[in-house]
Amino acid sequence: MSACRLCPRQCDAARTSQEPGRCGIRTGPGFFRVAKIMAHHWEEPYISGTRGSGTVFFSGCPLGCRFCQNHAISQPIPDKPLPGTDFSVRELAFELVRLAGEGVHNINLVTASHFAQDVPALVRQLRSDGLDLPVVWNTSSYETVQALRALSGSVDVYLPDFKFWDRDVSAGLAHAPDYAHVATQAILEMQRQQPQTVFDPDGLMVRGVALRLLVLPGHHRDAFSIIDWIARELPPDIPLAIMNQYTPFLNLQDQMADYPEMKRRVTTYEYQKVIEHAEQKGLTRLLGQERAAASAVYTPDF
Ligand code: SF4
Repeated sequence: MSACRLCPRQCDAARTSQEPGRCGIRTGPGFFRVAKIMAHHWEEPYISGTRGSGTVFFSGCPLGCRFCQNHAISQPIPDKPLPGTDFSVRELAFELVRLAGEGVHNINLVTASHFAQDVPALVRQLRSDGLDLPVVWNTSSYETVQALRALSGSVDVYLPDFKFWDRDVSAGLAHAPDYAHVATQAILEMQRQQPQTVFDPDGLMVRGVALRLLVLPGHHRDAFSIIDWIARELPPDIPLAIMNQYTPFLNLQDQMADYPEMKRRVTTYEYQKVIEHAEQKGLTRLLGQERAAASAVYTPDF
């Protein structure tokens, strides 16, 4: 990986200390940088179940939303390595087999897009170590179709966010004017790989695609456009979690001086309008969130 072009940023970085990627990563092939491994109890009920989701939070992020709730591990700081520990494929598989022993329902890879080239080897190692839990790919959807194709056969459940529609919004909040184009192609590839949604007898998702839409304050009409695309292009019973957990973190407020609406929570009116729009468009498997979900309490302590 002398010039990385793994994600849509195509930044050509060497991913070394001297030349980290735009995602903040300084590790080459065969290594992951991991911020936290834990049983996660606050994902959707069909992912967390009763015993939690076996979650790996990877350090760094190719998208880098300015309001990220995991900003402590996702946003690069100049001249400093990202928080976390480097693991080889074998070392990470060992930790995940240990976590599986705690009874978690699945292995949940959160924002692993910038390590996608090594995930098939990780999953092969997990299978040869005897682990048969579903593998969940938990993603911003800012990833290339080519990278996703390499995951075919390794991922059982795709859990993509659909974050922005309007290119001015995605340019302003994530420096990614191409976000909607990239995300629509990525989600269609996920749906091609896992076209059937399958739940086990306990209601845990074991195969398929389940979407997430985080409603942003002042941008609920952007969410309408996302829902229109979902209703047009995907099956009406695709699971869609409409999330009410946007939290305006105080330490990010200066970064968002040009987006004053992002300094507040989503109103009940905005959230309800998005839910109603999804219902009107005929989407049948909707999951909502209480307003109390908008709390830093639900962000893991990194
Ligand atoms: S994965 Fe990271 S290093 Fe590779 S192209 Fe994307 S931002 Fe650059």
